[in-house]
Amino acid sequence: MTRPLVRPPRKNPILRTRMPTLPPGSRSRVALGLTAAAARGRFELQVCRDCGTVQYPPREACRVCLSHRLDWRVQDGAGELLSETLLHHSNELFYRERMPWRLGLVKLDCGPLIVAHLHGDCVGAPSRVRASLHLDRAGQAALVALPEKDTPNMADDRQLREMNCDPKFRKILITDAKTPLGLALVEAVVAAGADLVWAGQAEPWKKPPGFERLAAIPQVSLVPLDLTNSRAVKDLAGEIGGRVDILINTADYHRNFGIAARDGIETARAEMDVNYFGLLRLAQEFAPAMRARGADGQSSATAWVNVLSIFALSNFPPHGTYSASKAAALSLAQCLRAELSPAGVRVINVFPGPIDDEWNQTLPPPKIAPARLAADIVAALRGGAEDVFPGDIARDWVARWRDNPKGLERELAAQQL
Ligand SMILES: [Zn+2]
Repeated sequence: MTRPLVRPPRKNPILRTRMPTLPPGSRSRVALGLTAAAARGRFELQVCRDCGTVQYPPREACRVCLSHRLDWRVQDGAGELLSETLLHHSNELFYRERMPWRLGLVKLDCGPLIVAHLHGDCVGAPSRVRASLHLDRAGQAALVALPEKDTPNMADDRQLREMNCDPKFRKILITDAKTPLGLALVEAVVAAGADLVWAGQAEPWKKPPGFERLAAIPQVSLVPLDLTNSRAVKDLAGEIGGRVDILINTADYHRNFGIAARDGIETARAEMDVNYFGLLRLAQEFAPAMRARGADGQSSATAWVNVLSIFALSNFPPHGTYSASKAAALSLAQCLRAELSPAGVRVINVFPGPIDDEWNQTLPPPKIAPARLAADIVAALRGGAEDVFPGDIARDWVARWRDNPKGLERELAAQQL
């Protein structure tokens, strides 16, 4: 059984900060299909459209009939552990620093034979396991064999924790804790074992319902943070920037209407100021310190979460300028991901459908409840995904967007949800 993680000791400030090492990060173009699946938290393998063979490792052609018609399809992952080995030597610096490392040979029920990182709770071969795909610290897909059923403290496994961004014992900044989502998220990360939560508030005089309860949680520390104020962001980064392990940007400025229904650009400018420039200000002030702390062991900087919107993928005209600001934020978040990845800090983009809050009041259901969205964000931190589509609407939109982006644009133009 995995022993529960103990609180890591405080970092000795005299010790030099180590440079982060990463597992091997190069993949062939076709193998990036695995990474795309892992980024969405799915276990997908190549399936031949002509003969039905499921194959691994990914190839340009089917290993049985040489067909090029290969599709990535979700697989079950159940399989049999045939043998295991404990690695005591590696030429890769990343693994050398983490020896010994457990690996297993697994025969999947769907066909292929795989070598996978083996969770500490998997009993010896032969035994049943379930394979899953996780993003590793280099941001590439890695196969992990997990025990067939969940075990206590499973997420505390030493090897698994190298691939996940579990909130347990970590220090977390939530940039706007006063929105319905911010409130739910503070409670969710505290329940997940966060060591300390800095709850940002742009307007300290506002006391939304539920705020008193939040302020009374011992792990929560309220901090002033207005993302439209460069000085305020800089000051807070100077104070806590070197200690933030996970940053969750929940700040959001949302007004309805498209282009013609509104005069002037003030509202659109305010949306950009929070949703786009706010993210840029945060990134400039907080990312350098997080990048430097990617190798701080158990309590390293590990993730940056952006709460975007499914409207970032394709414009929803009734919320037109808001969609544009979220599209800009998405593009910037991709740049941030590239800049943080050498440090092993993961950028997770969350694309919820309409949230059940005051600005989506006129939209018909289904809408995602803030508590459910907060739970999905914690699950993404634990599960190792980097693109998250919580809620039925988001999942439906992204499926249609992948299948036929022009079709979705036309449907949204007709204001169909
Ligand atoms: Zn085939």
